[in-house]
Amino acid sequence: MELSPQILGGWLEAFATEVAENEPLLTDLDRQIGDADHGANMVRGTKAVAALDPADFADARSYAKKVAMTLISTVGGASGPLYGTFFLRLAAALPDDGPIGQTDWLQALRAGVQGVLDRGKANPGDKTMLDALVPAVDAFEKDPDHPWQSAADTAAAGRDATVPMVARKGRASYLGQRSAGVADPGATSATLLLVAAARTLA
Ligand code: ADP
Ligand code: MG
Repeated sequence: MELSPQILGGWLEAFATEVAENEPLLTDLDRQIGDADHGANMVRGTKAVAALDPADFADARSYAKKVAMTLISTVGGASGPLYGTFFLRLAAALPDDGPIGQTDWLQALRAGVQGVLDRGKANPGDKTMLDALVPAVDAFEKDPDHPWQSAADTAAAGRDATVPMVARKGRASYLGQRSAGVADPGATSATLLLVAAARTLA
């Protein structure tokens, strides 16, 4: 595969479509264990990203940086800075435009997830987007044949695994034991990011 702003743009456009289709679900999950804004937050942010024209950017790295800044300034909530940090770190770790292989993608994804870990100071098991992202990147590494599909499938399993968890970070943690029984909204949107990747980057 050849890395370019357009390649990343296709991924982000598919993410925006997934988020728009799943807005009611994201809203409902966040209504149950948060403040009901995650669907609206993500639709606003991914729409703003989809409105960027990848052709306006010199390379994939500068486009991804703009994606990050756009997410930070439009998503809001706890998730905006976290998704923004994911793309900032991913941007910095991307190779130059041109041939990109599984190892390059793995490094970029790992850097992005490390950014979320650093910024949010949560760990897997805390019922956050990390419960989808961390196992997804591990699965990406372990499947040389279908890394993106494995990442998407594993993110979905990670999302489902958040249902019985008690939240230890973010707004849902205020509910204590009552946060159990519902999938984490951020783990649900993060799964959409990897589903979009499997559709466009595989
Ligand atoms: P807010 O909680 O401010 O309303 P959103 O509703 O947009 O923001 O996002 C909530 C999601 O953010 C949660 O479902 C969770 O996945 C994620 N989140 C919150 N805090 C953290 C954190 N410290 N680390 C990782 N993810 C987090
Ligand atoms: Mg919320």
